[in-house]
Amino acid sequence: MNRRDFIKLSGASAGLVLIPVSNLAVAQAPVHVAVDDPQAKALGYVEQSPEAKSNCANCAQAKGDLAAEWVGCNLFPGKEVKGAGWCKVWSPRPV
Ligand code: SF4
Repeated sequence: MNRRDFIKLSGASAGLVLIPVSNLAVAQAPVHVAVDDPQAKALGYVEQSPEAKSNCANCAQAKGDLAAEWVGCNLFPGKEVKGAGWCKVWSPRPV
């Protein structure tokens, strides 16, 4: 390592040290939408779909790993709904 590389590396390292730990993104498990959540109630969200072929996992608003037990939903940013769930907004995913 020559002097120039050492100075570059030192500068980069110094920058890393100055980032407060509290600013680092910490991966957290998404919150599951509760059926008694006011928005969920307004949308008629349930964790078990009353419709045989309609559920959150095949809804146009669903996102993320649609094969998982809990999936993301555009209507509940930062939260997850049950893949087997359903609400009044359900519409089929585009083919
Ligand atoms: S919009 Fe779709 S994915 Fe979101 S809760 Fe309703 S049915 Fe489930």
